[in-house]
Amino acid sequence: MTEATSYLRATSVDEAIAALASQAGDAVIVAGGLVVGSLINQRLASPALLVDITRIPSLKKIEAGTDGGLTIGALTTHDDVLRSDIVKRTVPLLCEIAEDIACGRLRNRGTLGGSLCMMGQQGDPATGLLALNATIRIKGPEGSRTIPLEAFFKDAFELDLGESEILEEVHVPAAPKGAHWAFLKQGPRNAMDFTLVAVSVVARLGGDGRIDHIRCGMNGVSPTAVRPRNAEAALLGKSPGAIDWNAVGTAFDSDIKPESDLVYSASYKARLAKVLLRRAVERALAGGTK
Ligand SMILES: Cc1cc2nc3c(=O)[nH]c(=O)nc-3n(C[C@H](O)[C@H](O)[C@H](O)COP(=O)(O)OP(=O)(O)OC[C@H]3O[C@@H](n4cnc5c(N)ncnc54)[C@H](O)[C@@H]3O)c2cc1C
Repeated sequence: MTEATSYLRATSVDEAIAALASQAGDAVIVAGGLVVGSLINQRLASPALLVDITRIPSLKKIEAGTDGGLTIGALTTHDDVLRSDIVKRTVPLLCEIAEDIACGRLRNRGTLGGSLCMMGQQGDPATGLLALNATIRIKGPEGSRTIPLEAFFKDAFELDLGESEILEEVHVPAAPKGAHWAFLKQGPRNAMDFTLVAVSVVARLGGDGRIDHIRCGMNGVSPTAVRPRNAEAALLGKSPGAIDWNAVGTAFDSDIKPESDLVYSASYKARLAKVLLRRAVERALAGGTK
């Protein structure tokens, strides 16, 4: 066990990466600190070095892209997202998700990067970003790389993120023209509790009245945030009145791996997720929530 934890307030991404690399896996990035602080307080983590990235201005930004999408820096807080006119105009789904995260004080500190890089269960923004087909840019000692967010979430406690790498930004492409969004979540309480299950849906009806685009993102039902591809396939090409929800549910069962915890059983989580998925799809197909 490490005797004492050192602290570095990095002023550039390169300085932070060099600091992480110098500790060979015994350094931890601090963004909003909500999760890191709690782990250290509970003596569940005792890294040799804390690398504070909150004073790196390049990581805190929201920029509209030329492709109709937008780029969000990893240090952007949930409150920044909620209040951003660009996000409201371009991908209102992300504002809707941010609005429901915990409470004002936590939204003010918690960052998008911290939410995506949380080991174990990712937060609610991951569901919307999966549904929106987001990509992320990661930087490490070898340079930068861009990957689909879907590929970032590998397994329980496993991200595609090296020991000396930093998530720099998230790129959200423009949603397909005419698509609508919906987000639903369920937790023990509305505020101040981690979500139990959340689902985001981006869907569009084609000219013939059938679903010609559907992408969903979920958390709470697998070791990581997931995209239920089999359920999406069961929905694609159907008109809203002709969806076989039993078939969608069966397909969905093969997308998820819910685990029982001290309070909720795996079967309850699966059932809840199916109900939320159906409601969110129906809501999106009816024109979205906002
Ligand atoms: C009481 C409570 C209720 C909550 N309710 C909700 C909720 O309803 N919905 C929801 O979505 N979330 C909820 N959260 C989670 C909260 O939104 C996240 O904890 C927060 O977004 C994490 O961000 P952070 O900046 O504080 O992360 P930190 O604690 O700073 O970091 C989290 C992890 O990510 C790593 N990390 C951070 N930034 C980077 C980066 N740029 N690159 C690489 N690694 C990085 C850190 O090393 C650490 O391992 C809740 C949290 C609490 C405490």
